[in-house]
Amino acid sequence: MRRVVVIGGGVAGIQAALDVANHHIPVTLIEREPSIGGHMAQLDKTFPTNDCSMCILSPKMVDVQRHPLITIRTLAEVTSIEGEVGDFRVTVRQHPRYVETNLCTGCEDCVDICPVEVYNRFDAGVGVRKAIYKPHPQVVPNVVVRDSEHCIECGLCYDICGREAVLREDTEKTEVIEAASVIIATGYQLFDARRKEMFGYLRYPDVITSLEFERLINSSGPTGGEVRRLSDGAVPRSVVFVQCVGSRDMQIGKSYCSSVCCMYALKNAMLIREHHPEIEVTILYNDIRAYGKGYEEYCVRAEAAGIRLLRAFPGEVIAGDNDLILPLEDTETGEFISLHADMVVLSAGMEAEPDTQAIMEQLGIPLDQNGFVNTTDQKLDPVGTIRPGIYVAGTVTAPRDIPDSVMTAGAAAMRATRDTLTTGE
Ligand code: SF4
Ligand code: SF4
Repeated sequence: MRRVVVIGGGVAGIQAALDVANHHIPVTLIEREPSIGGHMAQLDKTFPTNDCSMCILSPKMVDVQRHPLITIRTLAEVTSIEGEVGDFRVTVRQHPRYVETNLCTGCEDCVDICPVEVYNRFDAGVGVRKAIYKPHPQVVPNVVVRDSEHCIECGLCYDICGREAVLREDTEKTEVIEAASVIIATGYQLFDARRKEMFGYLRYPDVITSLEFERLINSSGPTGGEVRRLSDGAVPRSVVFVQCVGSRDMQIGKSYCSSVCCMYALKNAMLIREHHPEIEVTILYNDIRAYGKGYEEYCVRAEAAGIRLLRAFPGEVIAGDNDLILPLEDTETGEFISLHADMVVLSAGMEAEPDTQAIMEQLGIPLDQNGFVNTTDQKLDPVGTIRPGIYVAGTVTAPRDIPDSVMTAGAAAMRATRDTLTTGE
């Protein structure tokens, strides 16, 4: 039987792969990072239930790995999709891992001995990683990857690995996969907060993004879950969240709401109060958008927990005397105030993934003015594209939260399953 190719190994791609494979159809799941998991693997808790993100995601990652009908390709990128429904040819570029995945047990002896430390992208730069590494403890597949760009070829990892799994040489490979249907679930990229220069991101160490905060408050993150200032390691006395950074902002051409930032800011504010009830937490918002089931109640609980919601948008963040100052107007009272904060968290929005845009352009699938994919009908066909047999799931079409992403994944999987059963050999 022909297979389904799922591009993108975040929660939407994982769900789609499982749903299709559970209908006895083979699936190849393609992920460009060393592990599947996507952005959800970086999060601490998820709203509105405050469930641990990895506690939900990790069992699904393991299910994908163990499923006899799912083949995972990590460090892999799709370069072209040709053909038509029932007969696609998906060309995949496989980047070198410099580790033999069949031999590596994931013991990390090589990681412990490696002397090189570099910026850790998984920890959003808050922590460091080695030149041979696992992005996080629950990676799937459970093997390391050697970063040849930063490796100094000291040889220690080759020597310590009793299984001779570390490779000195490895090459890029190309594979063509035949598929009846393709699901594109390549997710989003986070807005680059440097574009809002007035907030001082990367100029002031205590101005961080929401994703950096997720790693900071995560017990498996670089600070073990301690909320600390990056400047001096001190527990902040006050934290201010700035909403709509890179969303609903026509100055930078962003007309849309990123849909999740109000809720994740409320969630992170609540977590701060749980960890440190003494920290003052303020959220500066345009409008609080709490539209999902249980979300409004969550917002009410956050206010009851002492989180201050202030309808205001600061014009800038400036350096104070060992703190940060946010001059702003309270738009409900018209009062001008200068808010002092020990830490500022920028609630960065979602942007369309540039690599996805390239594939869509190649396929002739239209994008909206913000670069997200236009489906054939926003209301009646939210996962179909103008190319029969090619479906979209998750945040490829618009910013959306985890429950919505999982729903679109299920819908896309159903459509791909039908195509495969009706067109396959
Ligand atoms: Fe362990 Fe070798 Fe794999 Fe490193 S490469 S994690 S030492 S098995
Ligand atoms: Fe680290 Fe490279 Fe040395 Fe291996 S050879 S231990 S990856 S620096």
